[in-house]
Amino acid sequence: MTAPAPDRPIGGARRPSVAVVGGGISGLVALHHLARSGLVDVTLHEASPRLGGKILGGWLGDPGVPVELGPDGFVSRGSDLPELCEAIGLGDELVSAAHGVVQIWSRGRLRTLPRGLVMGLPVHPLGLLRSRLLSVAELGRLSLDLILPPTRCPGDVSIAALVGTRLGRGAVDRLVEPLVGGVYAGTAESLGVDGALPGLRARLDGRRSLIRALRSGQPAVAPSMVTLRGGLTTLVEALRADALARGARIRLDSAVRGLRPAAGGGYQLLDDGSRPVHHDAVVVATPASAASALLAPLVPGVEPLGGVAYAPVSVVALLYPATAVAGEPRGTGFLACRADGGMLRACTWTDRKWPHLARDGVLLARCSMGGIGDRRPLELDDGELAGRAHAELSDAVPLRQGPLDRLVARWPNAIPQYAPGHRSLVESALSHLPRGIRLAGAAYEGVGLSACARQGRTAAQGVLDDLASRSHDRLAVSAAFGAETGAPGP
Ligand SMILES: Cc1cc2nc3c(=O)[nH]c(=O)nc-3n(C[C@H](O)[C@H](O)[C@H](O)COP(=O)(O)OP(=O)(O)OC[C@H]3O[C@@H](n4cnc5c(N)ncnc54)[C@H](O)[C@@H]3O)c2cc1C
Repeated sequence: MTAPAPDRPIGGARRPSVAVVGGGISGLVALHHLARSGLVDVTLHEASPRLGGKILGGWLGDPGVPVELGPDGFVSRGSDLPELCEAIGLGDELVSAAHGVVQIWSRGRLRTLPRGLVMGLPVHPLGLLRSRLLSVAELGRLSLDLILPPTRCPGDVSIAALVGTRLGRGAVDRLVEPLVGGVYAGTAESLGVDGALPGLRARLDGRRSLIRALRSGQPAVAPSMVTLRGGLTTLVEALRADALARGARIRLDSAVRGLRPAAGGGYQLLDDGSRPVHHDAVVVATPASAASALLAPLVPGVEPLGGVAYAPVSVVALLYPATAVAGEPRGTGFLACRADGGMLRACTWTDRKWPHLARDGVLLARCSMGGIGDRRPLELDDGELAGRAHAELSDAVPLRQGPLDRLVARWPNAIPQYAPGHRSLVESALSHLPRGIRLAGAAYEGVGLSACARQGRTAAQGVLDDLASRSHDRLAVSAAFGAETGAPGP
């Protein structure tokens, strides 16, 4: 995973210099690989006063209970992150989430999610019947999928268009939207099938029924979530320390304002300092709007990235006395149906999902509020928002007491929306990038931490390859120049 140590620097005596713009997980992983390669001098610029981007921790109550205010874990299967954690000394700190029942808050009741979903879609209508998630009429509509004529879907379309056409609006509102909304904070209209449910169109290809198509594929395997015992900020801190120990530089409060081509090759980077700084290559790991603004003057083809919409999410962490809940809350949490009009999208019972966080006498609820098209949480002050979260939570799980403490984090641009056509938009933008510029981040090839880490590593390897091929070209030019003139090359 980490590039092997070099025999000598790329391109001769001076080590090339690489800038990483953005200190979220994507930029930090790029920094890690570049610093560990030993091939380049690397400097990370982060606009804010702290590293981590969406990774943010906090404390509630006294004595403090740790809480994640951004992501709270990552999918470990197929991810680079566990290996990376090992490499930076955090291997023993990885802990797994408990497999609990997930419920859906729908039409005034908590309903257990039926088993046997594939991509969040039902494979056995009978399971749905038992969960009472759908009305009889909605179940009837869903079953029509088995006899309706095939739906032609030659290109990417919204989830509403494909799943709604096959299974009806009820299945979209009560099942698909809460599930995909839990990951993307999006709606069935804002999300494209290819981005949010990759592989679904291929499964349906040539088949008449979506339900039968889902049955025919590999059985669903529940994703295994892990986190770090001390919270995800320990990953940020360990990546920072590891990079600094290998000679990398990290500049906080250093918003990059511009990039332009340098006369002799490479790029001039403008931050808040007065003089532009030269770099041979740049990894841009900011949100899409910042990446587009930075790169558009240099690479016109990336401009459409600026149009990627982001869903706002507010996280409200509420600490209750354990006695506040009549009986035990079931499972690890629940998802809420947007169609019912509330602001609450999801609640995690943190101590249930992450047993290592359980504390005697208290219970921690982490509520996600808002989502695409719902800016109401951003318009409330912290007290009002916490009150609203408590009220909606109390509807679902009767609470005898108010919270002992609360913490609110607002993410106006939390999660990029992979709208229909997102994949081709990204492919086109990436294809325009000149040598020595790479992009990584949640807006492109996966929003989760593991996908961002993979993109950070790929971007780092990409600039190393670019620099190696540039130095190879230079050597080839030198050799040609020497052969023609009999003089040594420049
Ligand atoms: C509330 C919430 C819950 C989530 N839950 C999960 C979860 O449980 N599991 C999971 O896998 N994922 C989860 N995600 C998604 C995941 O956390 C993010 O997609 C991921 O952290 C994004 O990382 P990034 O590095 O691409 O971008 P960011 O974290 O947004 O980092 C980009 C950085 O670039 C900086 N920047 C911007 N402009 C400039 C500039 N001009 N110059 C320099 N720096 C700049 C920003 O300040 C920021 O620090 C969640 C996200 C949110 C918001």
